[in-house]
Amino acid sequence: MKKAYSVMLIAVLSVMFFFTAGPVLADSKKITAAIDEASKNCRGVSHQIWEFKETGLQEVKSSALLKDELAKLGYKVTGDLKVPDDLVKDGIAKTAFKAEMAGKGPGPTVTIMLEYDALAIGHACGHNLIATSGLMAAAGLAKVMKDTPGRVFVIGTPDEERGSLGAGKVALLEGGHFEGSDVVFITHGADRWSMDQRLLAMKRANFTFKGKSAHAAAAPHKGINALRGVMLTFNCVDQLREHLRQDVRIHGVVVKGGGPVNIVPELAQAEFACRALDTPTMEDAYTKVVRCAKAGELGTGTTLEFKEPRVALKSAIVVPPLLDVVHANLKGLGIAAGEFKDFDELASSDLGMVGDSYPTVNVWFKIAPEGTALHSEALREAANSDEAWKAAVITGKAVALSAYEMLTKPERLKSVQESFKTAKAKGGK
Ligand SMILES: [Zn+2]
Repeated sequence: MKKAYSVMLIAVLSVMFFFTAGPVLADSKKITAAIDEASKNCRGVSHQIWEFKETGLQEVKSSALLKDELAKLGYKVTGDLKVPDDLVKDGIAKTAFKAEMAGKGPGPTVTIMLEYDALAIGHACGHNLIATSGLMAAAGLAKVMKDTPGRVFVIGTPDEERGSLGAGKVALLEGGHFEGSDVVFITHGADRWSMDQRLLAMKRANFTFKGKSAHAAAAPHKGINALRGVMLTFNCVDQLREHLRQDVRIHGVVVKGGGPVNIVPELAQAEFACRALDTPTMEDAYTKVVRCAKAGELGTGTTLEFKEPRVALKSAIVVPPLLDVVHANLKGLGIAAGEFKDFDELASSDLGMVGDSYPTVNVWFKIAPEGTALHSEALREAANSDEAWKAAVITGKAVALSAYEMLTKPERLKSVQESFKTAKAKGGK
């Protein structure tokens, strides 16, 4: 009786394995094999983008090349995306694009973002590898979508390096091009493997103080010094620092301080940036800086001109269950647990805006020795190296396998979405 029961159990388990783990494992193999196959061509694409080194909104050749490659993989590709015209001239994002592939019937939507803009010194932020690790993930998924529910979006997001101007992801979000996404993936090369998702939320403030000119020696009492308004603002901001949380950054510059020294300045301007690890804390610091400028106005009798900036960058919402999926896939692909390290230094990106709107993961992969700074010449050279390419292939596989899990395991996707919703309700704190 006991033996018969065991035999039956084994039989049932085998059937279950065939219908569940079996196809999943087979598809995982299909995905990674497709990426290995695509790797050689994608390495060439990466090298070309590295050589093009096109800066923000000039990424014409890089964008055309990626669109072409995605079309070859069977994606339906759309360029010239419509966006708000106060963010991008004429309201058409010429170097952005969106590629779509529908699967077998309705299901979730996974989105992969590609970046491809360079800095003035070339690809010192390795965006050629963001584009091509994402392209490889797209190649892997293309192989299985005909048997998989849902769809894949690949969105080309230009102009990241000048992201605070809003012509990249902010414009595409406002243009509705991410709508329907359930999960968003992006990658970034660095000096380490990392699941660290922290970005500083950021908002800029431009203050103009208007006073009254007068001869600075003969009749200073007839003037109102606009520069004093700026100086008082800086002084007030410095009084605040004692009471700001450690992660808050406030940094300002004097844009215009006056003309000839013998004239009381009638116009002065300053620009500040306020940052913090979460958006509400950043907004609080920003409000305080505006109050400092108002104090500058009041104390000096100048007139302050100021308007809310069009674009502010939020910080990304951290979604642990999504990070766990990617982390597990990277470990499965041979990256040891001890290889993952958090960052000591943080910055801001328009990626934060996507991460505030949708469950998003940025996969940091190691392309250079530890200590190599982003935006350095050393990182630029690393971004075209064979070592970096090996890491990019692993990362492309991890993204594709994680995206596939989101498409095929509804309970896992649900836990990602619930975690996002809970953290978002708390403002990402
Ligand atoms: Zn950068």
